[in-house]
Amino acid sequence: MPARDEPAILVLNAGSSSIKFCIFRRVDGQAVRGLRGQVSGLGTVPRFTSRRDGGPTIDTQLAAGPMTHAAALDRLLEAVHAELGGARIVGVGHRVVHGGLEFMAPIAVDTSVLQRLDQYVPLAPLHQPHNLAAIRALLARLPGVPEIACFDTAFHRTVPDVAQRFALPPRFAEAGVRRYGFHGLSYEYIASQLSAVDGRAAAGRTVVLHLGNGSSMCAMRACRSIATTMGFTAVDGLPMGTRCGALDPGVVLFLMDEMKLGPREIERLIYNESGLLGMSGVSSDVRDLLASSEPAAALALDVFVYRAGRELGSLAAALGGLDAIVFTAGIGENQAEIRVRICRQAAWLGIELDAAANARHGPRISTPGSAAAAFVIPTDEESMIARHVMRLLQA
Ligand code: ADP
Repeated sequence: MPARDEPAILVLNAGSSSIKFCIFRRVDGQAVRGLRGQVSGLGTVPRFTSRRDGGPTIDTQLAAGPMTHAAALDRLLEAVHAELGGARIVGVGHRVVHGGLEFMAPIAVDTSVLQRLDQYVPLAPLHQPHNLAAIRALLARLPGVPEIACFDTAFHRTVPDVAQRFALPPRFAEAGVRRYGFHGLSYEYIASQLSAVDGRAAAGRTVVLHLGNGSSMCAMRACRSIATTMGFTAVDGLPMGTRCGALDPGVVLFLMDEMKLGPREIERLIYNESGLLGMSGVSSDVRDLLASSEPAAALALDVFVYRAGRELGSLAAALGGLDAIVFTAGIGENQAEIRVRICRQAAWLGIELDAAANARHGPRISTPGSAAAAFVIPTDEESMIARHVMRLLQA
C-alpha cells in the first residue's frame, strides 16, 4: 500500500444510473490503483459498493428510493476523502463519451471547454449530459483541482475520412452525422500494452475485440485506429448485452410506420431490450446463456459469434491482411468458449488456437505456427485515464 500522503488522482465515470470511481496514488511517476467502487441504482434503490485489489467488496444501501446524481457525488466524495485521510486530490480524470471531431486528446476542462463539449450532447444524449454534469459538480466542489476530460472517441480520430463517412449527402456529415467510434480508452490501453506482448502485433495489422456488455472491435495499424465497428452511436456494430448492433435503417422506418413505435420506444428497444438479452429472453450475460438449455439462448450466442466473425473479416479487409487479434473486456478476457468459437470462424484468416493456452486465458492463445497470432490482454480504462491525468499535470 503506498504512503497515505502520496498525491491522489480520482477517476470518475458518471453514467445515467451509476457513478463509478477509482482512486490512484502517484508513486514514483506511476499511477497505483487504490480503492474503487460505485454508486449504482440511482433511479431505483441506490447502493454504494467499494473494494481494494484482492479485498472484499463493501456494499451498503444508501437510500430507500431514487437519489440525485449530485447527492450521489457528495456521498462518493465523502468516501474518497475518508479513504485519502488528508492526502490531496491533485487531479480528476473523467470518462467522457464524446469529443466530436474536435477533441483528439484529453484536455483540462474550464467553462469554455464545457461549452464546446455541450455541443455533443445531442450526439450522445444518454451519456454525455451525465459525464458533463459530473465535471461541473467537481469544478464547484474541488476548486483549483484540474478536471481532465478523456474521450471514448479520441483514439479513432486517426480513422481515414473515407471510413468515417456515411453514404449520405454532405450536409449530413457537416451536421455531425458520421462514424465516430467508441471504447477508445480501452483500445488506447491495449495499444499501450501491445509492444510488450508482441512486437509484430504492435507494428502490424491487429484487430482488438472489446467484448463486454458493450462490444466493439477496432482495426489498428501500428497501434493506430483505422476502422471500428461502432459508428455514430455506441449502438452500431456487434450485437451486445442489450444493444442490437448494426440494424438495417429500413427496420427503424418499419418500426415507426407499421408497428407505430415512437422514438423513445425504439430507443429503449435498440439500447435496452435487444442484443443477447432480447434474442434469448434469458439474460444479457454470456455466463447465463452458456448455462441455459433454452434454444433461444444458444441462438443468441450463435448470432453474437457469427457477427463477430463477419466483422473480423471486414476489419481484416480494411487492414489489407491480419497479423494478430486481441481479445479483451469481460467476455474477451474470461470466456474461453466464446474465443474458441470466434477463432474457429477466423481460421481462414490464419488463426490457429492453442486450446490449453486459451483455457489458461493466454496471454498468447494461438499456436506457434499460427499465421496470425491471437492474444488475451485485460483492458484497464481507468488506469488509462489516470495516466492521461498524470501526463497533463506534469505538462
Ligand atoms: P461492461 O461492458 O459493463 O464493463 P464487462 O466487460 O464486465 O461489462 O462484460 C460483461 C460480460 O462479460 C458478461 O456477458 C459476462 O458474461 C462476461 N464476464 C465478465 N466477467 C466474467 C468472468 N469473470 N467470467 C466469465 N464471464 C465474465
